[in-house]
Amino acid sequence: MSSVTSALRECHRLRVHLRNLQAEIDRGPRVLQDHQDELEAARQAHKDHHDSITKLKLKQREDEGTLKQADTRLAKLEEQLTGMGVQKEYVAKKHEIEMAQTKKGETEDAILATIMELEEKTAAIPTVEQTWKQAQADFKEFQVEAAERLAGMKADQEACTVELAEREATLPPDVKRTYDSIVKAKGPDALAATKARVCQACRTSMTEVQFNVLRSGVFRTCATCGRMQYPVE
Ligand SMILES: [Zn+2]
Repeated sequence: MSSVTSALRECHRLRVHLRNLQAEIDRGPRVLQDHQDELEAARQAHKDHHDSITKLKLKQREDEGTLKQADTRLAKLEEQLTGMGVQKEYVAKKHEIEMAQTKKGETEDAILATIMELEEKTAAIPTVEQTWKQAQADFKEFQVEAAERLAGMKADQEACTVELAEREATLPPDVKRTYDSIVKAKGPDALAATKARVCQACRTSMTEVQFNVLRSGVFRTCATCGRMQYPVE
């Protein structure tokens, strides 16, 4: 391969690589945001668990207060019942007592349910703590890796930019002028490999003669897509 076509091939490789590097660097903040969102969700889940325990304890205390009031009220109603002579009043009081007992039973059931839920949530605390700890460790690990990856990509970017400039400097002046104007318009898509006479960008075939001329190192652009061509095996 002539120096012109091999320079074009390298320029293409470098420009595509630089574009990919830049795209990945640009994606960085989005990827970071995704990891921050995950960390926030884990923080919220951890907080929610502890908040729910606090709420259940409060509910238990309130229900116990209600139960105490129910007991006091029932005792008072029973006392009132003892002194009743009139049948009609007696039946009404008896009914009132039954209502109060049902209410008391409901409160007792609620307390029991709360106690069971509290036991479950308390038993889950070690797992919840472990999950939260792991989420924080994962985020820290991501940050370290992301910083290393970014540093690596920036170093690669710098080296490739220097190499690209060196390669471009080897192009003959007339080729360089065309190269510059096409690159300005198309970026890395200014170039295309040609394999077995087929332009790898637009899939158009060239004649055998044209391909041989290209292979001999003569600079040409694709008649269909306008990209600068270089042959590959
Ligand atoms: Zn083409």
